[in-house]
Amino acid sequence: MTKKQLPLILLLLFAQLFSSKLFSFTFNNNVTLAFNQKNVAVHLAQGFCQNLNLSDDQLMSLIEEAIDDYWNTVPTSKLILVIGQKKSLSSSYYSDPLCSSGTSNRCTPNVTIKVDNDIVVSCNTNSTNFPSPAILASSMPNNFSGNTIYGSLVLINDTASNGFKSRNREQQKAIIAHEIGHAIGLGHSPVKDSLMYYSDVNYRTRLGLDDIDGVTYLYPKEQPFSCNSSAAFFVDKNLNQQSSKKKIQQNLQAVKQSILANFFSFTLAVVIAIILRIVFNQTKLRLRARHSASY
Ligand SMILES: [Zn+2]
Repeated sequence: MTKKQLPLILLLLFAQLFSSKLFSFTFNNNVTLAFNQKNVAVHLAQGFCQNLNLSDDQLMSLIEEAIDDYWNTVPTSKLILVIGQKKSLSSSYYSDPLCSSGTSNRCTPNVTIKVDNDIVVSCNTNSTNFPSPAILASSMPNNFSGNTIYGSLVLINDTASNGFKSRNREQQKAIIAHEIGHAIGLGHSPVKDSLMYYSDVNYRTRLGLDDIDGVTYLYPKEQPFSCNSSAAFFVDKNLNQQSSKKKIQQNLQAVKQSILANFFSFTLAVVIAIILRIVFNQTKLRLRARHSASY
């Protein structure tokens, strides 16, 4: 490394330092998995939940709002989650462990409760899944091949002392949205204001920037190529309700803020590199002056 290259290397280091904080999302088991189809339905295993104090209809309504208020609000993601049906499934979905071995962090899926397609939400009381009331839910894609998810399972803790039932409606919605995040392929984020942060997700009301980055990475939406008036940003017709449009605007605002933050970080790095270059040159001149004076 020559002395002339030093400012450039420092500049690159600063750029790396700032940019590395912008993408912190992870994947389940660190494997990139995503559904191939554009529309993914979220179904409910009906008649199982006994300790949540919620009827199947109330749960369906919570799931629908979790979909529309969170994952369907990302303008850069092509994934569209739709509310599915109440399904009559085997009681294994209520009683079995999610993994046949290992844990939900790194596990071999239990094939007896494999989901054929889309996403199934079920109550569950298995003590391996839920050794404590504090574990509110456990979820993962449990039917996949290569990088394609065919089916995912979301299990909500329905043990008698479960912690889910004491949460208010908004909190329960955020918890379900977090679990659906796992079902579509996302792991935990270390960024605290993300829905996919591992803890306290029940205080979220919208996606964080890291969630938006993650779902966009897994489900990138092609944007219009041309720059004429028809290339204006569009919203899918089946993204319904005013609330979804409002969230889309909020998310666009977050993306703009990120671009601005990135620009300022880069400018700061350039300014620091220039200052270092000036200091380095002045030091070199002083040393040269001293060196020639000593002769
Ligand atoms: Zn989680």
